[in-house]
Amino acid sequence: MAAMITAESCAWCGIPQRGHGQRWIVGIGWHGWTAPDKALISLRIRARFRAKGWLPYFCPTSGEVEHPRLGGFTVCCSRPDLHCDPTLVRRP
Ligand SMILES: [Zn+2]
Ligand SMILES: [Zn+2]
Repeated sequence: MAAMITAESCAWCGIPQRGHGQRWIVGIGWHGWTAPDKALISLRIRARFRAKGWLPYFCPTSGEVEHPRLGGFTVCCSRPDLHCDPTLVRRP
């Protein structure tokens, strides 16, 4: 099993502790590596078989990030096709 999301992966962005440093992602802002809690780890394990099921996403329509730690995933708009990876959104 390669590159599984584990306790080494940041609670906010999923990047491993090594090489994380300070990172900015849209909706979350600057953050250091943050250990995921048990609930998030079990969510990640359950989501493993769905492609990136646990990952936060950015909704350009609402301008907000949907994240398991920010109230979970809700149907926020009628354009889910515009949703994207918040770690790829450039800083304004
Ligand atoms: Zn992070
Ligand atoms: Zn949306």
